[in-house]
Amino acid sequence: MWIVSLLLIVLFWFGDAAVDATIFMPEKNFLQSLLEPEPVELWMRSVIAALLLGFGIYAGNAVREQREAHEALYEQRAQLEAEIERRKSLEAELREQADTDPLTSVYNRRRFYEFLQYELERVQRYDGSFSLILCDIDHFKQINDRYGHHVGDEALKSFCGTISANLRSVDVMARWGGEEFAILAPGIKLPEAVNLAEKLRQLTHERVLVSETALTISLGVTEYQLGDDSDSLLKRVDEALYLAKQRGRNRAVAAP
Ligand code: GH3
Ligand code: MG
Ligand code: MG
Repeated sequence: MWIVSLLLIVLFWFGDAAVDATIFMPEKNFLQSLLEPEPVELWMRSVIAALLLGFGIYAGNAVREQREAHEALYEQRAQLEAEIERRKSLEAELREQADTDPLTSVYNRRRFYEFLQYELERVQRYDGSFSLILCDIDHFKQINDRYGHHVGDEALKSFCGTISANLRSVDVMARWGGEEFAILAPGIKLPEAVNLAEKLRQLTHERVLVSETALTISLGVTEYQLGDDSDSLLKRVDEALYLAKQRGRNRAVAAP
């Protein structure tokens, strides 16, 4: 800014010398008026030059302060935005931790109840159907006993990965507890749910291997009936699973 004021001073000095040489003191030529002004002229030009310089410095400082304030504001905003992003991802992480099982990454029992409750309200209000499958890994204790707990953990992860990859995106899989898992299948009736359970049983038998041993599961399947609540549904599906175990395991049993 002070460069602008210096330019203005020079311009003013030249301009005033030109005006003096042509109008007020024609006896002096331009150069004399420029370099040897009358004392009064010299005073006047010096005062105006000082004023211009003062203004230039003041304006320069004001612009710099403004720019610095702006930059500080931008900096603060960027920091705030970064902090908001950090908290959002932390919140998402915490929510995920609260909703999922840490070992298998499928939903936990608490979150499954919420989905089930939501689905119950949906079918009660708009009609429709949904099915519930409860499955339990057969003789899992033997897997732990034979290969160790760590291998058992890996088997649980592998099982969940295989099943999750073969469900629809609307289906919900959760760890019901230990080696027992629940699947909520919205929009499907009992015969389709039995087919799904059979498909999952076969997939597990064919793809989930622990060392050389193939994992098998028993499944209980049921469909929402008018008047059901979560307790009646879960009781029915649990009884079906119990029957599957009783009838020799590695099978699906339907409870209408
Ligand atoms: P069944 O066919 O009757 O279901 O027999 P099972 O051996 O699978 O059933 P049981 O209830 O006797 O044993 C369940 C086993 O599952 C015992 C328990 O140590 C194991 N288990 C439960 N949760 C975990 C886990 O997170 N990791 C491992 N490795 N094992 C687990
Ligand atoms: Mg079991
Ligand atoms: Mg069990």
